[in-house]
Amino acid sequence: MRRRTKENIRTGIAVLLVLAGFYLQSINVYAGMLCIAAGILVCPFPKRAKGKAVRIILSALIVIGTYLFWKGILPYYPHRDATGTLRVHYLDLGQAECEFIELPDGKCMLIDSGELDQGSRVVSYVKSCGYTYIDYFCITHPHSDHIGGAHTVLAEMPVGRVILNPMPANLVPDTYCYRSTLEAAQKRGKTVETAYYGQNDLSGSDYSIVIYTPDETFVNDDLNMYSLMIRISYGKTAYLFTGDAGIAEEENIISQHADLQADVLKVGHHGSNDATGYAFIAEVDPAYAVISVGKENKNYLPHGKLLSILEGRGITVYRTDMDGTVIVSTDGYRISVETVIQ
Ligand SMILES: [Zn+2]
Repeated sequence: MRRRTKENIRTGIAVLLVLAGFYLQSINVYAGMLCIAAGILVCPFPKRAKGKAVRIILSALIVIGTYLFWKGILPYYPHRDATGTLRVHYLDLGQAECEFIELPDGKCMLIDSGELDQGSRVVSYVKSCGYTYIDYFCITHPHSDHIGGAHTVLAEMPVGRVILNPMPANLVPDTYCYRSTLEAAQKRGKTVETAYYGQNDLSGSDYSIVIYTPDETFVNDDLNMYSLMIRISYGKTAYLFTGDAGIAEEENIISQHADLQADVLKVGHHGSNDATGYAFIAEVDPAYAVISVGKENKNYLPHGKLLSILEGRGITVYRTDMDGTVIVSTDGYRISVETVIQ
């Protein structure tokens, strides 16, 4: 009788551990799997002579299998079929910024994540495009209008790699949105990587992604000036993303002989007049410019002088405050633009 009671208690604990494991795995996949493995170990079944050995092997397989799947297979597996199309969505998030990129091989990438309360909107948008996994999440710099939604994105969607800009120790922020992003990544079992100049290990077989950062000689007390610049090229076309980089950073990146030419330029710092200098525009030489900017923003952006410079060069300008979400697609040769006002 006492043996039966012990068995019932063990079964109860095992069921609780397995259920808790399923719940936990949505927060931290490794903790969840360890919990399920512990549940199997505690379970008194199967009762036959080698039952214990079977449970130990099964638990070990679950733990090792999960680790290998998440670390070794998932990050490299294209979760959707290759489309042959590179499609960039410049989301309309008011005075905040986020770009969602569908890569030609079925992978996807998120650059920035809007403000603190916009993470769920970003996740809904990504899911509405048919993606349940973000391969690469790059944060250009940790100001709230770029990193704000990151902790929600990390909590609500599995992410392959999280990449942040390098910055000097005195500029590392002690803000809620920065701390909560690091915590959310840790809960997911992710290490936040620091980008470096020339990083190109996100590239696919038929497209290239190169990240640019200022060099060691660069000193500036503005965090914007340490924004990641990201160039994605596919076939004969290229896109450049600049975060909130200003003229000082642009000059530093140019001095490092970065290949900045792009057909589509995401204009730096929401169209402010401290960014997108003459030399930079000449270097990028875009046909299209996209400005992430809020309606009637208090800084009166985009700056009129910048708009006339872009117009003077014959560059077609799209603005999220007037055009809504801007979607720029290419097959590697032709570029097409659509705009969606929500
Ligand atoms: Zn910004």
